[in-house]
Amino acid sequence: MCGFISIFGPAESNAIHDVLTGLLAIQHRGQDAAGVVTFGDRFQAKKGLGLVREVFQEKHMQRLRGHLAVGHVRYPTVGLGEDTDVQPFWLDYPVGVAMAHNGNVTNFHDLRRTYFGQRKIHLGSNCDLEVVLYVFADALMRRGGHPVEVDDVRVAVKEVFDRVKGAYSVVGITGEGMYAFRDPYGIKPIIFGRKTTPEGTWYAVASESVVLDVAGYEVVRDLQAGEMLWIGPDRVPHFVQVGDKPHRPCIFEYIYFARPDTFLDRTSVYEARMELGRRLGRAFQRTGLQADVVIPVPESARTAAQTMAEVLGLPCREGFVKNRYVGRTFIMPNDKARRDSIRAKLNPIRAEFEGKKVIVLDDSIVRGNTSRQMVKIARQMGAEKVYLASYSPPLLYPCLYGIDMSTKREFIARGRDHAEIARELGADFVLYQTIEEMVDAVRTAGNGKLEFCKACFAGEYPTGDITEQMVADIEQDRMAATKC
Ligand code: AMP
Repeated sequence: MCGFISIFGPAESNAIHDVLTGLLAIQHRGQDAAGVVTFGDRFQAKKGLGLVREVFQEKHMQRLRGHLAVGHVRYPTVGLGEDTDVQPFWLDYPVGVAMAHNGNVTNFHDLRRTYFGQRKIHLGSNCDLEVVLYVFADALMRRGGHPVEVDDVRVAVKEVFDRVKGAYSVVGITGEGMYAFRDPYGIKPIIFGRKTTPEGTWYAVASESVVLDVAGYEVVRDLQAGEMLWIGPDRVPHFVQVGDKPHRPCIFEYIYFARPDTFLDRTSVYEARMELGRRLGRAFQRTGLQADVVIPVPESARTAAQTMAEVLGLPCREGFVKNRYVGRTFIMPNDKARRDSIRAKLNPIRAEFEGKKVIVLDDSIVRGNTSRQMVKIARQMGAEKVYLASYSPPLLYPCLYGIDMSTKREFIARGRDHAEIARELGADFVLYQTIEEMVDAVRTAGNGKLEFCKACFAGEYPTGDITEQMVADIEQDRMAATKC
């Protein structure tokens, strides 16, 4: 799960400042690496491992000039997290094109073996973006390459859709313009915006609307499933519907990934989480259990905890204090390292637990490491009862579209009923949202007709082309990534 932003500024402008402002706004989508490619009179790049503020320094601003730019923050799902895999990628020849994406190519290994293998083309990285870039650039080149017209981009996007499977929202630049496309099923988010300054009109495409907000752009609209955008030298946005598949945006974006101040497909993530909390509050009421307080696991569960508490007529309290300087726990090499770092990350406030029946609310339970630790800490702090609540349903199936969810074997809910999960996590009771309530809650918050990709909960993959081999390949990548 990554984040991107691409900018087409007025002639003579420099897009780099907006790109960096945008990348900082979506740092939550990837803290592993960051990169920017700009175009003034040629491509200039700066990429590196680490956070945006660590990778970019003032000296790079002088070099990264130009009115066209694309930037990326990485959360590795394919590849071993090496610096050769840091996006954006670009080619100077046979066509000048730079590209970044968010998502996962499910037939990456297959393409590497067949489409590229048979032509004796060796990929230079383990990043699946490389196959999208080559297929796209190859099609552009066969169209003549220069100058790029909207129909050339349409043909290239169609070629990508025909060959490359999975979920991938893509942004990029050529020397003449900016392009973007959303994957055939619209699983990954992508939104287009515009602003006018004395210098002229600026266009931006980003993963989340919050990027546009903070960089001063007004939201124009989300791209639809299978839709592309090209803005060339005429500076007019050209939208073309290339695919014809149903729109199935990822529901986990609303649960965990996106910032609460983002709108995805015209649905407020904040409103969605509020509604998810209300629904879970009502579900808790139906259990007949009594509680004294709702305590969120920071950060994502905060919004839902407030409404859950409201419904239950209970206080919502900050029982855990998060140290935001401890890095990501989720992809630590083993469970012991993960547990230690969760403890270092979240420290309790005894007064909120002592002698109380507490509801500890998290957005999701994956391997159960966080929940197990939270329950243990709550008991150490003297809680009388610990009820664990998740405002999403049990996670049971690996995400093959770019969210690092772990492999099937690691899901705590796999093969266990709720009582067994509670026992396994040491809780007095475990309450999950149902799939129906989750979908209905997110719909209530925005576009009432949206259908979602909910494969990680229900096991139905909207692309309908997932093979056992793809699952095995992706699981192997994950294991390799967490071992290195
Ligand atoms: P676990 O400790 O393995 O059960 O993971 C659950 C915790 O990780 C929750 O607190 C979530 O907020 C967080 N989480 C859920 N999904 C992801 C993900 N794909 N990447 C990183 N963190 C996640």
